[in-house]
Amino acid sequence: MINVSNIERFATHDGPGIRTTIFLKGCSLHCPWCANPETWVEYPVLMHDTKKCVRCFACQKNCPNMAIHFDPEFKWNPQTCQHCNTCVENCPLEALEFSGKSMEIEEIVKIVLKDIDYYKNSQGGVTISGGEAFVQFDALMELLKTLKKHDLHVAIETTGNYSNERIKRALPYIDLWLIDFKHIDKEMLQKVTGGDYDQIMENITYLMNTCPDQVIIRTPVIPKFNADQKTLCAMIEYVSKYPVKEMDLLPYHSLGKSKWDKMHKKYMYSDLKMMDKSELLDYVEIGKKHGLKIKLGG
Ligand code: SF4
Ligand code: SF4
Repeated sequence: MINVSNIERFATHDGPGIRTTIFLKGCSLHCPWCANPETWVEYPVLMHDTKKCVRCFACQKNCPNMAIHFDPEFKWNPQTCQHCNTCVENCPLEALEFSGKSMEIEEIVKIVLKDIDYYKNSQGGVTISGGEAFVQFDALMELLKTLKKHDLHVAIETTGNYSNERIKRALPYIDLWLIDFKHIDKEMLQKVTGGDYDQIMENITYLMNTCPDQVIIRTPVIPKFNADQKTLCAMIEYVSKYPVKEMDLLPYHSLGKSKWDKMHKKYMYSDLKMMDKSELLDYVEIGKKHGLKIKLGG
Protein backbone atom coordinates (compact mmCIF):
# COMPACT_ATOMS: atom_id res chain seq x y z
CA MET A 1 0.00 0.00 0.00
CA ILE A 2 1.07 3.56 -0.65
CA ASN A 3 -0.48 6.86 0.45
CA VAL A 4 -1.57 8.91 -2.54
CA SER A 5 -2.79 12.47 -2.65
CA ASN A 6 -3.97 12.57 -6.25
CA ILE A 7 -3.50 10.94 -9.64
CA GLU A 8 -3.62 13.29 -12.60
CA ARG A 9 -4.10 11.79 -16.07
CA PHE A 10 -3.16 13.56 -19.31
CA ALA A 11 -0.61 15.83 -17.63
CA THR A 12 1.61 17.67 -20.10
CA HIS A 13 4.21 19.06 -17.71
CA ASP A 14 6.73 17.48 -15.33
CA GLY A 15 8.33 15.40 -18.07
CA PRO A 16 7.98 14.82 -21.82
CA GLY A 17 4.82 13.91 -23.73
CA ILE A 18 1.48 12.95 -22.24
CA ARG A 19 1.85 11.64 -18.71
CA THR A 20 0.08 10.41 -15.64
CA THR A 21 1.33 12.16 -12.52
CA ILE A 22 1.04 10.36 -9.20
CA PHE A 23 1.21 12.69 -6.21
CA LEU A 24 2.41 10.79 -3.16
CA LYS A 25 1.87 11.90 0.40
CA GLY A 26 4.49 12.83 2.97
CA CYS A 27 7.19 15.50 2.83
CA SER A 28 10.18 16.29 5.01
CA LEU A 29 10.28 19.98 4.05
CA HIS A 30 7.80 22.78 4.78
CA CYS A 31 8.28 25.38 2.05
CA PRO A 32 5.92 28.27 2.81
CA TRP A 33 5.01 28.71 -0.89
CA CYS A 34 4.07 25.02 -1.30
CA ALA A 35 1.24 24.44 -3.80
CA ASN A 36 0.35 21.08 -2.23
CA PRO A 37 0.48 21.52 1.57
CA GLU A 38 -2.08 18.72 1.99
CA THR A 39 0.68 16.29 0.93
CA TRP A 40 2.99 17.11 3.84
CA VAL A 41 1.54 14.39 6.05
CA GLU A 42 1.01 10.79 5.04
CA TYR A 43 -2.53 10.48 6.42
CA PRO A 44 -5.65 11.82 4.61
CA VAL A 45 -6.30 15.47 5.43
CA LEU A 46 -9.79 16.90 6.01
CA MET A 47 -10.21 20.04 3.90
CA HIS A 48 -12.89 22.51 5.05
CA ASP A 49 -14.19 25.17 2.68
CA THR A 50 -15.18 28.21 4.74
CA LYS A 51 -16.87 29.80 1.73
CA LYS A 52 -19.33 26.91 1.45
CA CYS A 53 -19.79 26.27 5.19
CA VAL A 54 -23.00 27.67 6.77
CA ARG A 55 -21.96 26.66 10.31
CA CYS A 56 -24.81 24.21 10.80
CA PHE A 57 -22.44 22.13 12.99
CA ALA A 58 -23.73 18.85 11.52
CA CYS A 59 -20.14 17.68 11.12
CA GLN A 60 -19.33 18.33 14.76
CA LYS A 61 -22.56 16.76 16.05
CA ASN A 62 -22.18 13.61 13.94
CA CYS A 63 -18.50 12.93 14.52
CA PRO A 64 -18.26 9.81 16.71
CA ASN A 65 -14.75 10.74 17.83
CA MET A 66 -15.18 14.41 18.69
CA ALA A 67 -12.52 15.24 16.14
CA ILE A 68 -14.28 18.42 14.96
CA HIS A 69 -15.09 21.53 16.93
CA PHE A 70 -15.54 25.25 16.32
CA ASP A 71 -13.68 27.70 18.57
CA PRO A 72 -14.99 29.82 16.85
CA GLU A 73 -13.33 28.66 13.60
CA PHE A 74 -13.44 25.09 12.31
CA LYS A 75 -10.86 22.81 13.93
CA TRP A 76 -10.08 19.21 13.00
CA ASN A 77 -8.00 16.88 15.14
CA PRO A 78 -6.06 14.39 13.00
CA GLN A 79 -4.99 12.50 16.14
CA THR A 80 -8.52 11.45 17.09
CA CYS A 81 -10.07 11.31 13.59
CA GLN A 82 -10.70 7.74 12.42
CA HIS A 83 -11.40 8.74 8.80
CA CYS A 84 -14.90 7.29 9.01
CA ASN A 85 -16.18 9.93 6.54
CA THR A 86 -19.35 10.59 8.60
CA CYS A 87 -18.70 14.35 8.67
CA VAL A 88 -18.27 14.51 4.89
CA GLU A 89 -21.47 12.53 4.34
CA ASN A 90 -23.45 14.71 6.76
CA CYS A 91 -22.36 18.08 5.47
CA PRO A 92 -25.33 19.50 3.52
CA LEU A 93 -23.15 21.94 1.55
CA GLU A 94 -20.28 19.66 0.49
CA ALA A 95 -17.93 21.90 2.43
CA LEU A 96 -15.79 18.98 3.58
CA GLU A 97 -13.63 16.52 1.70
CA PHE A 98 -10.70 14.29 2.48
CA SER A 99 -7.54 14.67 0.49
CA GLY A 100 -5.51 11.50 0.13
CA LYS A 101 -6.00 7.78 0.46
CA SER A 102 -4.09 4.56 0.73
CA MET A 103 -3.93 2.54 -2.48
CA GLU A 104 -2.59 -0.81 -3.65
CA ILE A 105 0.33 -0.53 -6.07
CA GLU A 106 -1.59 -2.65 -8.58
CA GLU A 107 -4.58 -0.29 -8.34
CA ILE A 108 -2.35 2.64 -9.29
CA VAL A 109 -0.69 0.77 -12.13
CA LYS A 110 -4.12 -0.18 -13.50
CA ILE A 111 -5.02 3.52 -13.73
CA VAL A 112 -1.65 4.32 -15.29
CA LEU A 113 -2.00 1.62 -17.96
CA LYS A 114 -5.32 3.03 -19.20
CA ASP A 115 -3.37 5.63 -21.18
CA ILE A 116 -0.47 3.53 -22.40
CA ASP A 117 -1.25 4.27 -26.07
CA TYR A 118 -1.03 8.00 -25.39
CA TYR A 119 2.36 7.57 -23.72
CA LYS A 120 3.66 5.58 -26.68
CA ASN A 121 2.42 8.09 -29.26
CA SER A 122 3.79 11.12 -27.40
CA GLN A 123 6.97 9.68 -25.82
CA GLY A 124 5.31 10.30 -22.50
CA GLY A 125 4.99 8.16 -19.39
CA VAL A 126 4.56 8.47 -15.66
CA THR A 127 5.76 11.15 -13.25
CA ILE A 128 5.92 10.55 -9.53
CA SER A 129 5.52 13.73 -7.54
CA GLY A 130 4.41 14.80 -4.08
CA GLY A 131 4.95 15.71 -1.38
CA GLU A 132 8.28 13.97 -1.42
CA ALA A 133 8.04 10.53 -2.99
CA PHE A 134 11.09 9.21 -1.10
CA VAL A 135 9.31 9.55 2.27
CA GLN A 136 7.42 6.29 1.58
CA PHE A 137 10.61 4.70 0.29
CA ASP A 138 9.78 0.98 0.42
CA ALA A 139 6.42 1.49 -1.26
CA LEU A 140 8.03 3.83 -3.78
CA MET A 141 10.56 1.14 -4.74
CA GLU A 142 7.74 -1.35 -5.26
CA LEU A 143 5.86 1.17 -7.42
CA LEU A 144 8.96 1.96 -9.49
CA LYS A 145 9.74 -1.71 -10.10
CA THR A 146 6.15 -2.43 -11.14
CA LEU A 147 6.06 0.55 -13.53
CA LYS A 148 9.33 -0.57 -15.08
CA LYS A 149 7.98 -4.09 -15.62
CA HIS A 150 5.54 -2.41 -18.00
CA ASP A 151 8.41 -0.65 -19.74
CA LEU A 152 7.10 2.84 -18.93
CA HIS A 153 9.15 6.04 -19.00
CA VAL A 154 9.36 7.15 -15.36
CA ALA A 155 10.18 10.65 -14.15
CA ILE A 156 10.41 11.68 -10.52
CA GLU A 157 10.02 15.10 -8.99
CA THR A 158 12.00 15.28 -5.79
CA THR A 159 13.49 17.55 -3.13
CA GLY A 160 16.62 15.45 -2.57
CA ASN A 161 16.15 15.69 1.20
CA TYR A 162 17.02 12.10 2.15
CA SER A 163 20.00 9.78 2.24
CA ASN A 164 22.10 9.31 -0.88
CA GLU A 165 21.72 5.55 -0.46
CA ARG A 166 18.07 5.89 -1.48
CA ILE A 167 18.98 7.68 -4.71
CA LYS A 168 21.43 4.91 -5.56
CA ARG A 169 18.79 2.23 -5.03
CA ALA A 170 16.15 4.06 -7.09
CA LEU A 171 18.53 5.05 -9.91
CA PRO A 172 18.00 1.98 -12.18
CA TYR A 173 14.23 2.54 -12.25
CA ILE A 174 14.11 6.27 -13.04
CA ASP A 175 14.57 7.76 -16.51
CA LEU A 176 14.32 11.42 -15.61
CA TRP A 177 15.12 13.26 -12.37
CA LEU A 178 13.40 16.59 -11.77
CA ILE A 179 15.32 17.64 -8.69
CA ASP A 180 14.77 20.87 -6.76
CA PHE A 181 17.62 23.30 -6.17
CA LYS A 182 15.90 25.90 -4.02
CA HIS A 183 18.78 27.98 -2.69
CA ILE A 184 22.55 28.04 -2.81
CA ASP A 185 22.85 29.54 0.66
CA LYS A 186 22.87 26.95 3.41
CA GLU A 187 21.33 29.09 6.13
CA MET A 188 18.50 30.38 3.93
CA LEU A 189 17.61 26.94 2.62
CA GLN A 190 17.59 25.35 6.05
CA LYS A 191 15.79 28.19 7.80
CA VAL A 192 12.98 28.60 5.26
CA THR A 193 12.39 25.05 3.98
CA GLY A 194 13.59 22.94 6.91
CA GLY A 195 15.74 20.87 4.54
CA ASP A 196 19.22 19.50 5.22
CA TYR A 197 21.42 21.57 2.90
CA ASP A 198 24.42 19.23 2.88
CA GLN A 199 22.24 16.22 2.15
CA ILE A 200 20.35 17.97 -0.65
CA MET A 201 23.53 19.28 -2.26
CA GLU A 202 25.14 15.85 -2.02
CA ASN A 203 22.19 14.36 -3.90
CA ILE A 204 21.96 17.11 -6.53
CA THR A 205 25.68 16.90 -7.20
CA TYR A 206 25.63 13.10 -7.23
CA LEU A 207 22.91 13.06 -9.90
CA MET A 208 24.58 15.79 -11.95
CA ASN A 209 27.80 13.73 -11.91
CA THR A 210 26.24 10.30 -12.41
CA CYS A 211 23.54 10.83 -15.05
CA PRO A 212 23.51 14.50 -16.13
CA ASP A 213 21.58 13.74 -19.32
CA GLN A 214 18.73 12.46 -17.15
CA VAL A 215 18.63 15.47 -14.84
CA ILE A 216 16.52 18.62 -14.91
CA ILE A 217 17.29 21.06 -12.11
CA ARG A 218 14.21 22.93 -10.89
CA THR A 219 14.25 26.21 -9.04
CA PRO A 220 11.05 27.79 -7.83
CA VAL A 221 11.75 31.52 -7.99
CA ILE A 222 10.31 33.00 -4.82
CA PRO A 223 10.32 36.70 -3.88
CA LYS A 224 12.11 37.50 -0.61
CA PHE A 225 13.77 34.07 -0.76
CA ASN A 226 15.85 33.48 -3.90
CA ALA A 227 14.46 35.85 -6.54
CA ASP A 228 17.39 38.27 -6.43
CA GLN A 229 19.91 38.40 -9.24
CA LYS A 230 22.95 37.57 -7.10
CA THR A 231 21.38 34.35 -5.81
CA LEU A 232 19.97 33.16 -9.14
CA CYS A 233 23.20 33.90 -11.01
CA ALA A 234 25.22 31.97 -8.42
CA MET A 235 22.83 29.02 -8.78
CA ILE A 236 22.99 29.11 -12.59
CA GLU A 237 26.78 29.24 -12.44
CA TYR A 238 26.88 26.25 -10.10
CA VAL A 239 24.57 24.10 -12.26
CA SER A 240 26.34 25.10 -15.50
CA LYS A 241 29.45 23.17 -14.41
CA TYR A 242 27.54 19.98 -15.21
CA PRO A 243 26.07 18.90 -18.58
CA VAL A 244 22.49 18.55 -17.29
CA LYS A 245 19.51 18.53 -19.67
CA GLU A 246 18.27 21.91 -18.49
CA MET A 247 17.50 24.13 -15.54
CA ASP A 248 13.87 25.17 -15.08
CA LEU A 249 13.09 28.45 -13.36
CA LEU A 250 9.55 28.25 -12.02
CA PRO A 251 8.04 31.70 -11.48
CA TYR A 252 6.27 32.11 -8.15
CA HIS A 253 2.51 31.50 -8.25
CA SER A 254 -0.11 31.40 -5.52
CA LEU A 255 -2.29 28.64 -7.00
CA GLY A 256 -2.02 26.57 -3.82
CA LYS A 257 -3.45 29.30 -1.59
CA SER A 258 -6.99 27.88 -1.53
CA LYS A 259 -5.57 24.63 -0.11
CA TRP A 260 -3.88 26.51 2.73
CA ASP A 261 -7.23 28.19 3.39
CA LYS A 262 -9.09 24.87 3.44
CA MET A 263 -6.58 23.53 5.95
CA HIS A 264 -6.95 26.70 8.05
CA LYS A 265 -3.23 27.36 7.77
CA LYS A 266 -1.79 30.80 7.27
CA TYR A 267 -0.44 31.39 3.76
CA MET A 268 2.53 33.69 4.18
CA TYR A 269 2.57 35.06 0.63
CA SER A 270 -0.98 36.47 0.44
CA ASP A 271 0.30 39.97 -0.30
CA LEU A 272 2.62 38.90 -3.13
CA LYS A 273 1.55 39.08 -6.74
CA MET A 274 2.16 36.18 -9.09
CA MET A 275 5.35 36.40 -11.09
CA ASP A 276 5.30 36.48 -14.88
CA LYS A 277 7.74 34.43 -16.94
CA SER A 278 8.81 37.63 -18.71
CA GLU A 279 10.40 38.82 -15.44
CA LEU A 280 12.93 35.99 -15.72
CA LEU A 281 13.88 36.34 -19.41
CA ASP A 282 17.33 37.77 -18.58
CA TYR A 283 18.28 34.49 -16.93
CA VAL A 284 17.76 32.58 -20.18
CA GLU A 285 20.52 34.72 -21.69
CA ILE A 286 22.72 34.37 -18.61
CA GLY A 287 22.30 30.61 -18.87
CA LYS A 288 23.26 30.69 -22.55
CA LYS A 289 26.49 32.50 -21.69
CA HIS A 290 27.30 29.66 -19.31
CA GLY A 291 26.30 26.99 -21.85
CA LEU A 292 23.22 26.02 -19.80
CA LYS A 293 19.72 25.71 -21.23
CA ILE A 294 17.28 27.57 -19.02
CA LYS A 295 13.56 26.98 -19.39
CA LEU A 296 10.98 29.23 -17.82
CA GLY A 297 8.19 27.21 -16.24
CA GLY A 298 8.05 23.47 -15.68
S1 SF4 B 1 -13.88 11.38 9.43
FE1 SF4 B 1 -15.14 10.61 11.12
S2 SF4 B 1 -13.79 10.73 12.89
FE2 SF4 B 1 -12.88 12.04 11.31
S3 SF4 B 1 -13.66 14.07 11.70
FE3 SF4 B 1 -15.04 13.14 10.21
S4 SF4 B 1 -16.67 12.20 11.41
FE4 SF4 B 1 -14.99 12.64 12.80
S1 SF4 C 1 -21.56 20.21 8.24
FE1 SF4 C 1 -20.64 21.34 6.55
S2 SF4 C 1 -21.78 23.27 6.48
FE2 SF4 C 1 -22.22 22.32 8.46
S3 SF4 C 1 -20.70 23.21 9.86
FE3 SF4 C 1 -19.82 21.32 9.10
S4 SF4 C 1 -18.62 21.92 7.32
FE4 SF4 C 1 -20.00 23.62 7.79
